[in-house]
Amino acid sequence: MTLKMKKATSPAETARILAEVRREGLSIGLVPTMGALHEGHISLVKMSLERSDYTVVSLFVNPKQFGEGEDLDKYPRTEDRDVATLEELGCDLLFMPDRDSIYTDTDRTKVSISSLGDHLCGASRPGHFDGVLLVVAKLFNMVNPDHAFFGQKDAQQAVIIQRMAADLDFPVRIFLGPTVREADGLAMSSRNRYLTDDERNRAPRMRAGLVAAAEAITNGERDASMLKKLVTASMTEGGFEIDYVECVDGGTLQPVTSANGTILLAAAGKLGRTRLIDNIAMKVGPEGAAETLLEFPEWSRYE
Ligand code: AMP
Repeated sequence: MTLKMKKATSPAETARILAEVRREGLSIGLVPTMGALHEGHISLVKMSLERSDYTVVSLFVNPKQFGEGEDLDKYPRTEDRDVATLEELGCDLLFMPDRDSIYTDTDRTKVSISSLGDHLCGASRPGHFDGVLLVVAKLFNMVNPDHAFFGQKDAQQAVIIQRMAADLDFPVRIFLGPTVREADGLAMSSRNRYLTDDERNRAPRMRAGLVAAAEAITNGERDASMLKKLVTASMTEGGFEIDYVECVDGGTLQPVTSANGTILLAAAGKLGRTRLIDNIAMKVGPEGAAETLLEFPEWSRYE
């Protein structure tokens, strides 16, 4: 932990600072964010501070992961508060690039992934995961972290990033942090501030449905269609316009008909104009069922 957080706005400046850090033999942890920091982000920064000698947080509202008509222009920006929060936490380096230092008009290279990214959130947000993968691949190359930290809240994103890191031999270990929630269960999200009071009151119905399905699994229910019905019913009651409710395998993210092994119950829907997502991962075996984090065994070949 350093006394004063450094700030860098260009990849070159970041590389200079990190070359020195690496010469000292310190391990580097990276927490990529789009800012408007909340307790979910903070928990990942704390994980990095615990597990890494030197923590880098990136703050970049990545235009390439927003689709046409999405909220890029109104995405919340609370830069001064974010800087103060990170400084207080003991973050070592804040990397806050502008668009032009990440992308140029001559860029041609894409990073995309087959089969994992075209359903769930990928179906209603075409191109979204290509944008995520491109920026994360760039950040991995710019920072070259030993560890990178992502939230289970965006479970599909985390699985896809882990797959990319393994497939392209980024020697980085991906850690997942549990979803941090408001007292009523709503997953924290920078987008929650878009909700009207009435929508905010109804928003926890998504989580409630997922919890009901998880409880049903614990009580022996395995039929995915029954589980999905429980989630759908609760979201409908809350007035959600449902985007998807799925029960998928925790590794392949392909839909399953029966909940066995590690599965992900995932939901997305809109309240008014605000799109919310949430999920619960469950480990289901002959001895019972319990909530879990998705696990990534692939990193170990770089240990
Ligand atoms: P974002 O700024 O929304 O791109 O999120 C940056 C990172 O924080 C991602 O890895 C997210 O999965 C993670 N994150 C967002 N919300 C939460 C939450 N409520 N709990 C845990 N992690 C979260």
